[in-house]
Amino acid sequence: MIDLHTHSTASDGTFSPSELIRLAKREGLKALALTDHDTTRGLPEAYEVAREEGIPFLCGVEISVKFNGPGHFHLLGYFLSPELPPLEETLKALQEARKRRNELMVEKLRALGVEITLTELEEIAKGEIGRPHFARLLVEKGYVRTPDEAFEKYLRKGAPAYVPKALLEPKEAIEKILQAKGIPVLAHPITLKLAPKELSSYLKELKELGLRGVEAYYSEHNRDFTNFLLHEAQRLGFLTTGGSDFHGANKPDIRLGRGFGNLRVPKECFERLKKELEKL
Ligand code: AMP
Ligand code: FE
Ligand code: FE
Ligand code: ZN
Repeated sequence: MIDLHTHSTASDGTFSPSELIRLAKREGLKALALTDHDTTRGLPEAYEVAREEGIPFLCGVEISVKFNGPGHFHLLGYFLSPELPPLEETLKALQEARKRRNELMVEKLRALGVEITLTELEEIAKGEIGRPHFARLLVEKGYVRTPDEAFEKYLRKGAPAYVPKALLEPKEAIEKILQAKGIPVLAHPITLKLAPKELSSYLKELKELGLRGVEAYYSEHNRDFTNFLLHEAQRLGFLTTGGSDFHGANKPDIRLGRGFGNLRVPKECFERLKKELEKL
């Protein structure tokens, strides 16, 4: 069992980087990557503790990318090193965009009669603030009963308090990861919400922009979809990766390495990815 897609308290997970590594060890995982949203802040600690605990580890990040389609586009970047100076400015811009967006969402919620403040959000979050923190706060303050209800009623794309983030173009995001000696991988292709034929041609386009891999194994991918992606990866020469998208209590049904229960990411995904990184 391995897991190449996880979140810590540096973004919207609820386990600290060290706790995440120790959980991985307890659960018997054979390799792990930390891929927080728009930040590398958790990586040095995770890298160090993974070394101490003897868990094979890759550094990662997950960036939201512009997408003119029905769903949403997240790009994963994988690296050998936790220090990524070439990415710092890009990530800083994304974090600024997130801050502005959070302010706007607070305003929208207040206009809807939901009395929350940025300070309350900052007390909940230890790193980058995202919608899961809004959801938790709304539950705590009794405006909704569950985080799901918070998303449904207020936070999901199209809901009244939703504000899109200012994002990078796919080309730009892919190039930034390559410049930082990283490997760019399309996260959870299911969330693009494209039909197989459209997805096929979009993958080819992304390949031309420098994309190197697809996350074929993912909590929300069924077997047919994973097989489809494995086939596409072979056709286009992509690496394949996989992970649960573990967020701790912010996605309580998802278990590290196991997803909803039947996720199984082959160890070779980690080994091939690492080998390719060592060539860069
Ligand atoms: P943000 O980066 O602030 O746009 O928040 C995106 C994060 O919100 C995702 O990574 C998930 O952790 C979470 N999320 C998005 N949609 C939902 C949903 N419908 N229910 C629960 N969590 C969600
Ligand atoms: Fe998240
Ligand atoms: Fe994602
Ligand atoms: Zn994620």
